[in-house]
Amino acid sequence: MTRSISDATNVATSRWHSVPRTRSVRIGQLRATYVADGVIEATPPLLWPSGDATYWEAHPEHLDPGGFLVMGAGGLLVEADGWTILIDSGLGPMTIGPTVNGLGTVQGGALISSLERLGTRTTDLSAVAITHLHLDHVGWWCNSADQSEATPPLSGIRAVMTAEEWEDVGHGTPSRSSSDTVDDLTPAQQFADVLDALKPTTELVGEGEEIAPGVTVHRAPGHTPGHAAYRITSGGTTLLAFGDAFHSPVQIAHPDWVDATDHDPRGALDTRLNLLASLSEPDTFGFGIHFSDVVFGRVARDKGTYRWQPIETEL
Ligand SMILES: [Zn+2]
Repeated sequence: MTRSISDATNVATSRWHSVPRTRSVRIGQLRATYVADGVIEATPPLLWPSGDATYWEAHPEHLDPGGFLVMGAGGLLVEADGWTILIDSGLGPMTIGPTVNGLGTVQGGALISSLERLGTRTTDLSAVAITHLHLDHVGWWCNSADQSEATPPLSGIRAVMTAEEWEDVGHGTPSRSSSDTVDDLTPAQQFADVLDALKPTTELVGEGEEIAPGVTVHRAPGHTPGHAAYRITSGGTTLLAFGDAFHSPVQIAHPDWVDATDHDPRGALDTRLNLLASLSEPDTFGFGIHFSDVVFGRVARDKGTYRWQPIETEL
């Protein structure tokens, strides 16, 4: 007997600008849990340079006291009888920046202990499904900060991503010199290490492919060429993990805002509009990995505009 999903009608204002807590929802026979790795703080102009500054005066709940959007970095653990997958794997043990004007705290490192608190070891994972090859989604595939551990925690685990992502974003695996130290690592070198670690177990998948019972791949290009969403369906209910197609709940209401981090702005807009149509379907919910402490929600439509409505979760 599963409880039906309902709206969280009284969401504390602070949740719209807080680091996400570990929260779960039941999707039919499956359980989906946000697993924390860390946080990325960014100012709105860093994401939307052409945005309207006055918007934030009217919607202060989306910014923390420092004026930052507070975006979680982590993964979505999907558990069923007999299998467990993780969608994205956070930043890994690292602190970055502020390297660019507009970034605040950027820190990862909690994912493995967060999983352990949920009773999951990395060796329990049937697969890690990757939405796209950006460093805040492929953490823990290399030892960027902890050389004491010889083998990266996720190595040897089946990894899944679209063929377009691997070929267009991950093409080539430049190797770094053995004299490099961790302190010398630049993001480019870290990226090369991540690709090296992923290569032996990566399985390339295409549109509609099922990676676990009820979990299918859906191309959602624009943020990167092979960016993917994952559709998780059980018992007539669907959860759509849409990766970085949307970076914040405010983008649900403003899908036309041009995101500076999108590889193809026009394609990204088309993807956001397609996702909004899917998310508006009955019994369909969304997971926004960077959505502060309102990662689980549904898309409501009021007078022609969309908005993010958080749903009840278990802590
Ligand atoms: Zn991201």
